[in-house]
Amino acid sequence: MSDRLNEIAQSFLYPQRLTRILIIFGLICLEIMCGVLVYVAGGTHVSYLHCFYIPIILAGMIFRVPGGLIAGVMAGMIVGPYMPLDVLLNTSQPVTSYIVRGIFFSLVGIFSGALSVVFRMYLENLHRQMTTDPLTQLPNIVGLKLIWQDQVQKNHGRYPSILVVALNHLRDIDKAFGSEATSEVLREVTYRLRSALPAYVNLAYVDYGTFAVIIPFASLSVEEMREKCRNWLGNRFLIGEIPIFLESHFGDATPQGGEETLYSMVRKAKIAVDKSIELSHQSASFDEKDDQQIQRNLKLSHDLSEAIEKNQLKLAYQPKIDFKTGNCSGVEALVRWIHPELGMISPGEFIPMIEKTLLINQFTRWLLKTALAHLQEWLRQGLDLTCAVNFSMKNFEDPGIFADLQCLLKCYEVPLKHLEIEVTETAIPANLDKVADILQSCREEGIKISVDDFGTGQSSMTYLLRLPVDCIKIDQTFVRSIMTNSAAEAIVRSAIILGHELNLEVIAEGIETEEEYDKLRHLGCDGGQGFYFARPMFFEMATSWMQSRTAKLKTN
Ligand code: C2E
Ligand code: MG
Ligand code: MG
Repeated sequence: MSDRLNEIAQSFLYPQRLTRILIIFGLICLEIMCGVLVYVAGGTHVSYLHCFYIPIILAGMIFRVPGGLIAGVMAGMIVGPYMPLDVLLNTSQPVTSYIVRGIFFSLVGIFSGALSVVFRMYLENLHRQMTTDPLTQLPNIVGLKLIWQDQVQKNHGRYPSILVVALNHLRDIDKAFGSEATSEVLREVTYRLRSALPAYVNLAYVDYGTFAVIIPFASLSVEEMREKCRNWLGNRFLIGEIPIFLESHFGDATPQGGEETLYSMVRKAKIAVDKSIELSHQSASFDEKDDQQIQRNLKLSHDLSEAIEKNQLKLAYQPKIDFKTGNCSGVEALVRWIHPELGMISPGEFIPMIEKTLLINQFTRWLLKTALAHLQEWLRQGLDLTCAVNFSMKNFEDPGIFADLQCLLKCYEVPLKHLEIEVTETAIPANLDKVADILQSCREEGIKISVDDFGTGQSSMTYLLRLPVDCIKIDQTFVRSIMTNSAAEAIVRSAIILGHELNLEVIAEGIETEEEYDKLRHLGCDGGQGFYFARPMFFEMATSWMQSRTAKLKTN
């Protein structure tokens, strides 16, 4: 709506050439009609004279001071000496009357023209403020939108590509040196980018630390433009005397044939920038699949908040087999999300999302409550097993988690030795000492502690050193290659020896074939889990699986 009003105001204040001629013709006709009206009404003694103000003010507003002045003089002449004071009596006007009137009309024209100039200056200033970034003096996103629209119009509806340049870690500079230093860096970046690009290429500052370039048709390609920017920009800057290193990332988006706006193109190029940061590349191009993933993530993040309340989360249990007895010694609880529209969603996809929000605390409670309720039922049925829950480091950040766990264990009357916590994480967290304290308290109460995915990431050894551990679970990537890759076999063998040296139980994950099972047993592994024994199953199915396995072992 405001765009439409703006368009009307623009076409009124800045008419095109043909419209100008039409307006001039219209204003002349209007003044003549006013003159005819005055004459027909009986002469200048009637008040119809005032209708001349309309064309005079209009002319002043549209054609500024010269327009207003010309319209005023013309009006003064129309109702000048040749216009009678009274048409019926055929009396002429006194000279002073039409001269003063003519001067007055001219002054009104000049005044309205001057007002129009002031108003235009005000509007232009407002427009500049709205479309220019005050720090870099480059167009902002609104300004770039106008340039984009203009280019699309000139190119008969074809959309140009967009290149986005984003400065990584600008906020760190802000934190270390303050906003004045950040502004200095941004001005330097602007200068370098402007020097890199030909004068006809439009550069804009569209977001914090983010610049956008419209790639004009029939000029350099996106790659060439990116290379130029990269070379000129470099990554070394000076804040006062202090040299700093600042990385930039590039993302580009090319129109795919559908309807596009500048905003949609900048959004896509920004997605490409994020992808380049994630992949540790300097640049990336937008792919429609990235968009689908983002839309899916957004939907999942939103739906997650309701998933627990609406009972969409379920626990599946995968049996763990003791290699000495062949018994099912325990189960691992693996969460499943049965989304009403998207179907089954793997924990690998949504657990990292939960971990980024406060929902993690609600989720941890739900996980413990559900697993303990099922464990209580199994123990009641006489099944002797431990139930393992997966805890990532985020689960330990909830300050009340240990107290809640104790409450739940009391409430479900489950002996603590039947609960196991599998610690999963690839990176060592900053609060490892706090995690160690919580786990130590758990272990003193009898809860079993395992290190999951042992051998992957850089944290496994640190965990062995700093966390109280009972068991290690060798990651499935090693188990999967154990029959074909001698290095994998050597790693598994070493892990088993290491585990046993430290008095730990060693479990292998992801056993899929009998050969793998035999090999692991032969290497001295204490137990394992995998599709060879059973896939993860929901409560009822897991219960009957365990009952039939126990019955089978008894009859043997
Ligand atoms: P994990 O704890 O290492 O769990 C083992 C994963 O391997 C499970 O995948 C399981 O279904 C799969 N698996 C088991 N046996 C085999 C096999 O023989 N072959 C193959 N190819 N795969 C096998 P899932 O259920 O998709 O879980 C993936 C990861 O998600 C888990 O890895 C765990 O780190 C995480 N996760 C699952 N549930 C939870 C949870 O409740 N809390 C937390 N924090 N993480 C969870
Ligand atoms: Mg696990
Ligand atoms: Mg694992």
